[in-house]
Amino acid sequence: MTFDNLTEYFEKLEVTSSRLILIDILSDLFSQAEKTDVAQICYLLQGRVAPFYEPIEIGMAEKNVTASIARAYGVKRELVLSEYGRVGDLGQVAQNLADQKKNKSSHLLISDVFQTLLDIAEMHGEGMVEKKIVSLASLLSNTSGKEARHLVRIPLGATRLGVGDPTILDAFAKLKLGDKSKRKLLEGAYNKVSDLGLIGEVLWGKGLKGVAELDVMVGRPLRSQLCERLTDSKTILEKLDGLVHVQYKYDGFRVQIHKNGDKVRFFSRNLEETTPMFPEIVEGVLKQVKAKTIILDSEALAFNPESEEFLPFQETTKRRRKYEIEKMQKQLPLKAFVFDVMYIDGKSLVDTPLKERIEILNKFIEGDEILIPQPGEYVSDHLRLEKIFQESLAKGLEGVITKRPDSKYEAGARNFNWIKLKRHSSGELKDTIDCVILGYIFGKGKRADFGAGALLVGVYDKDKDEFLTVSKIGTGLTDEEWREVHQRADKLKVDTKPARVKSVLTPSVWVTPEIVIEVLADEITISPIHTAGYALRFPRLVKFRGYDKQAEDATTVKEIKKMYSQQYKT
Ligand code: ATP
Repeated sequence: MTFDNLTEYFEKLEVTSSRLILIDILSDLFSQAEKTDVAQICYLLQGRVAPFYEPIEIGMAEKNVTASIARAYGVKRELVLSEYGRVGDLGQVAQNLADQKKNKSSHLLISDVFQTLLDIAEMHGEGMVEKKIVSLASLLSNTSGKEARHLVRIPLGATRLGVGDPTILDAFAKLKLGDKSKRKLLEGAYNKVSDLGLIGEVLWGKGLKGVAELDVMVGRPLRSQLCERLTDSKTILEKLDGLVHVQYKYDGFRVQIHKNGDKVRFFSRNLEETTPMFPEIVEGVLKQVKAKTIILDSEALAFNPESEEFLPFQETTKRRRKYEIEKMQKQLPLKAFVFDVMYIDGKSLVDTPLKERIEILNKFIEGDEILIPQPGEYVSDHLRLEKIFQESLAKGLEGVITKRPDSKYEAGARNFNWIKLKRHSSGELKDTIDCVILGYIFGKGKRADFGAGALLVGVYDKDKDEFLTVSKIGTGLTDEEWREVHQRADKLKVDTKPARVKSVLTPSVWVTPEIVIEVLADEITISPIHTAGYALRFPRLVKFRGYDKQAEDATTVKEIKKMYSQQYKT
């Protein structure tokens, strides 16, 4: 398939505001694709040249892309910049210049374009900036205006096609399994391998049977298992048939640890590679893990080396940075509380019961210098469970996580096999909600200076892969935070409602659903206005969650419904 052909589909996707039509366009696209193109199309649709978890970036920001455009069309950089100022989209600037020059498409194959972009991403060392500029320019000079517009947006991370992973899976299911509702058949494997391109490749090559055989592998993150919530010990024990495995709940950030011989890699809750940030945990793994290959699930926490106290989330989170790592490592060294194991010495453990996994965990981690294994405790008495919960609070922790002892590790699942009991979850609504920013509404007066008066936010409908509105938030943000919203949301601004957003309200500006914020509210009420069917009363922003959660990790409509029915139970 040619890149020219692919961009025709990009054009259609870009202007669609219905998710069902997105699925139709995508399945049509994949029906035209060669088997060998499928994986590359999956990555390009999301503006990437590798699966999300691979830290392969094209490494060209606006400045260098501007230089490529100037070079490709033989104009001065200043002209490109002034046009950019006028039009607000470098892709459009490239298209205008190519059209002026009447550039025709050379009908490059998708694989040619993909390979060049991958080569650009892999250029390192001296003179690489110039080399990247030249390579992108040469691609641009072989494309039509329409192709150029989409090509330029890829390195800028601004593809704006509004296509989420579940929507691509729907398209796969519709095309290959006859019905989009069969997405569930692909989802289990997707949760284990986190790579849509791989799912596509195997589905085309070996069919559904091949997909079902895909399993967890060291070096490739699996989606984290998540928790449900309940409000008291008694109900939890009833729900888990009288016996639970209890571990403390640490409030830091999740680190999925992969060890393959002497190579160690970490992935965050949203599957981003975080290895370079935590060198002390790499050391800990190499020192303490007595297995050749392993995948562990853990929560990392910073502690004060003087007082030896663990620090709150606000401190720990300072370690999520890409610079001054050594300095921060001294100030805020990390320890990782290891609470699960999903793979050992070449064997997947996701289908092994938790009880056995905990035994393996204890056997293969030596000592507790940096990695601290969490053997937990088996409890059948609710008073004992309550006591452990209170102990955790006394230690300044958030609460406990209770798990079903014979349960599998279900990648990506959120169900009652894991239940959290948190400090605030009893009584009135105190747990926070993760909302996605869908738009902003211009304010009046002082706030208008920052371009926002209220945020239109939503929650996620996992089955339909759609975002439904749940609230307008105007309080809790400092002027500084409004500026941050403005800065981040401006890059995601779109002219029309994104296809996956369902809303009857129209904000001043629509925003591609990407930014997640944590919100606290007094109450959840039934709402005739918000498409989630519920609204938040007195909502206020607690913090930005953007770095560890993707939009699809936001609170779901189902959870809101559950929280609504639980809020007055004690
Ligand atoms: P979620 O991850 O469920 O979407 P969240 O990010 O708001 O929600 P919490 O509600 O605070 O997180 O609880 C779940 C998180 O607690 C896990 O994702 C994990 O990072 C952390 N955690 C801490 N201790 C444990 C433990 N012993 N077992 C499992 N998870 C734990």
